[in-house]
Amino acid sequence: MSFDYDVIILGSGPAGFSCAMQSSKFDKRVLIVEANEEHLGGTWINSGTVPSKALREAAKSIQKFHGQFGDERGRKPYERFKMDDLLQYKQNILESKNKKVKNDIIKNEIDTARGWGKILDDHTVEVSDHLNNVKIYSAKNILISTGSSFISPDMFSINDSNILDYRSVLNLTHIPRRMVIVGNGIISYEFATIFAALGTRVTLLAETDEILPFLDEEIKQEMNRLLKESTIQLHNSIHLQHVSNNKLRTCTEVGFKTDADPDRLQVVETEHVLYVGSRTPNTSKIGVENVDLSLTEDRGIKVDSYFRTSADSIYAAGDVVGSPAQASVSFVQGRIAALSMFNVESNKMNESIPYGIYSIPEISAIGMTEKDAVNQGIDVTVGRAYYNNLTQADINHEREGLLKLVFKTDDLKLVGVHIIGEQAADLIHLGQSVMAHNGSIRYFMEHVLNYPTYSEAYRIAAFNGMNRVYKAGIKYEKILERSGND
Ligand SMILES: Cc1cc2nc3c(=O)[nH]c(=O)nc-3n(C[C@H](O)[C@H](O)[C@H](O)COP(=O)(O)OP(=O)(O)OC[C@H]3O[C@@H](n4cnc5c(N)ncnc54)[C@H](O)[C@@H]3O)c2cc1C
Repeated sequence: MSFDYDVIILGSGPAGFSCAMQSSKFDKRVLIVEANEEHLGGTWINSGTVPSKALREAAKSIQKFHGQFGDERGRKPYERFKMDDLLQYKQNILESKNKKVKNDIIKNEIDTARGWGKILDDHTVEVSDHLNNVKIYSAKNILISTGSSFISPDMFSINDSNILDYRSVLNLTHIPRRMVIVGNGIISYEFATIFAALGTRVTLLAETDEILPFLDEEIKQEMNRLLKESTIQLHNSIHLQHVSNNKLRTCTEVGFKTDADPDRLQVVETEHVLYVGSRTPNTSKIGVENVDLSLTEDRGIKVDSYFRTSADSIYAAGDVVGSPAQASVSFVQGRIAALSMFNVESNKMNESIPYGIYSIPEISAIGMTEKDAVNQGIDVTVGRAYYNNLTQADINHEREGLLKLVFKTDDLKLVGVHIIGEQAADLIHLGQSVMAHNGSIRYFMEHVLNYPTYSEAYRIAAFNGMNRVYKAGIKYEKILERSGND
């Protein structure tokens, strides 16, 4: 049977893009179908990962500059700096990333079709563009990488003026003095710290009894300590009562109750509300009913470890298959899908995935928390390095932070790394490599690490952990003997 393409990819986010790039390297004929009329790159480049990180970088620079040099007139950052400048910084980055993705696609002779893709059968996709022109394409394989969407609030509507979502918050015309953020997860916490860095008084309302519950307890304590010192007011276990305009006071009101004080209606007056709900996989109106696809309870597409669906010729990767719904993961999933559809031997995705929280300061982790290990009955010791002991942190005036290693007491094998502080999301990869090679904390004591760097934290934490093992009564020589060489 002959087909127009070897693979048709629905969606040009990180999952679709990496599948397309990998397939093109095997000289396969690839078509990407993208519903966005203007841009390729999906949430990754246009509305999620890259723009929010660009805004964060601009806010961080302002915070650092303002913190180090102050303002002779005592102004707050929002009085000194213009949102336009921040947005321009973000826009330049988006444009350059968009150009890069477009060029990569052209250079690798990948075809694109703009419009809404819908699967008609195991090998056929219909594409309708914004003028309702319809084209039909066929392919040996299909990859679904349509991403995910935020669930809208049911109590009020996003109007992109004073009530914003993660997209319209990137188009504010000024830096707000007050903002209420409603949300429990990573994205709401990231935005809270970004705006706090600009001097905005942020109220963060979380329906859960704590935010980021998966963090290691000590990292959480450090995060909560820093939160208390910031302009962010966190309320947990809230029940939203209303979000409405108060015309008399020309503000927006957010009313809520908490589990701790269920009879008291608390009202916060604010300029803007940012709502960050949970996300749901984009599986509607893409023709899943026309093929034999199984969906998860959350309407994600069920896949195996090679991103094969229950239909032989159809693969799925990225947010559309559900958690952990990160660009970092989507890139790897899209590539593995390409390898498996063209029968190229590949490893499954490593189950140990790092996460990066791009708050100010960053948080990152991989592997077990101390509590996980204890709950599993594993005898672990921890080693800590506080940033105020790092020369690089001194030089950069970034002294708040902690790197914590969790390792097995008997053979020093590293089982978890938890970091809050400057460059945490980058630093985590050194721990990840050691863990991927079944290494122990000896690596950090025996290898020369560049100095001064933030990586020095690994060395300090390793010695700190070693001392703790030693104090527990195990002789130093014995520990080294027992843990062997890395
Ligand atoms: C504010 C924010 C910040 C984030 N920060 C990070 C971060 O720091 N690090 C990280 O790793 N992840 C981050 N993420 C998550 C990350 O953006 C997503 O996990 C990632 O983009 C998912 O990739 P994807 O390829 O599955 O889908 P997407 O990037 O969402 O792309 C899907 C594409 O499919 C297109 N599409 C949908 N339906 C159709 C159809 N029927 N036909 C044709 N095209 C279609 C869409 O237009 C879109 O372009 C963030 C997300 C948000 C919202």
